[in-house]
Amino acid sequence: MKAIRVHEFGGPQVLKLEDVSDPKPGPGQVVVRMHAAGVNPVDTYIRAGVYPRKPVLPYTPGLDGAGVVETVGEEVKRLKPGDRVYIAAGLSGTYAEKTLCLESQVHPLPQKTSFSQGAGLWVPYGTAFRALFQKAEAKPPEVVFIHGASGGVGTAAVQFARAAGLTVIGTAGSDKGKELVRKEGAHHVLDHNAADMTEHLMALTGNRGADVIVEMLANKNLGKDLQLVATGGRVIIVGSRGPVEVNPRDAMMRESTVKGLSLWAATESEQASVHAAIYAGLENGTLRPVVGQEMPLKDAPRAHEAVMAAGAHGKIVLVP
Ligand code: NAP
Repeated sequence: MKAIRVHEFGGPQVLKLEDVSDPKPGPGQVVVRMHAAGVNPVDTYIRAGVYPRKPVLPYTPGLDGAGVVETVGEEVKRLKPGDRVYIAAGLSGTYAEKTLCLESQVHPLPQKTSFSQGAGLWVPYGTAFRALFQKAEAKPPEVVFIHGASGGVGTAAVQFARAAGLTVIGTAGSDKGKELVRKEGAHHVLDHNAADMTEHLMALTGNRGADVIVEMLANKNLGKDLQLVATGGRVIIVGSRGPVEVNPRDAMMRESTVKGLSLWAATESEQASVHAAIYAGLENGTLRPVVGQEMPLKDAPRAHEAVMAAGAHGKIVLVP
């Protein structure tokens, strides 16, 4: 089969399409024939060798994907060949024609959800759900400010928050992104590059600030977030690409809380909540994963450049 292989950490050019042997399932494992693989920013950090979790070289990237179960090993109970599924992590990487997974990493994909949509579920929707409900414990009618709402995690957070009865304010950095954020359910949309963004946010919240801030670029925004969060509010750090200076007094005055989030740290029962919420939302139509761009598997280097560029518009998906 064909798969993307990385033999050395480095730039996007280290992603090579190669022939590798087909995976075979052991006990408790399944092989999924991939119809789509989701591209996440974390895939680029791992590829560059700057992420704390480093795979053994050579490896195939990819944590997200969707397809059809091809073969199952002994002791597999929940799944059978032919099942439509999405993958949450997996053992052998999703940028491939087939991928090996533990049974517990494979989840049913509703008929009405396309494979490309299924490739954007675990990391984006898992992170969005964890931020809003497991970390911030957001409750209607609170106001949630999704700082970076046009990308994978952001659109997922907008949909989850809107369906839960929260008031949603989302940001994007392009007109196309702002249009998307509004379409996906934000009550108000702001531009995170605009000089007067903070004044708009305070005006929209009657000068209270947001009860919950879901932050995609904390190294740029955390200092400001501490001034934009309401008294007793929660700032959830989802993304950060460097250090930042903050004034702790801003948090003291508001008795606000700053929490970091790692999807890797979700316990088994937290993961089970995430998957149940994803399935229910896909079935009832409140979750509608947005596929921004589909590319052939061989274009993985281009996909890695695109996912790190400004102007996000939903998910980038590789189609084997
Ligand atoms: P993505 O699809 O590439 O989207 C990136 C988002 O960040 C876009 O909405 C982009 O908006 C926005 N952004 C750009 N400049 C910004 C600014 N100055 N202020 C606020 N937002 C800004 O990425 P993603 O999959 O949504 O992931 C978002 C971040 O979360 C990444 O850094 C990722 O590594 C991290 N993440 C962390 C975890 C975890 O476990 N902690 C899990 C998943 C993701 P425009 O392009 O419209 O400007």
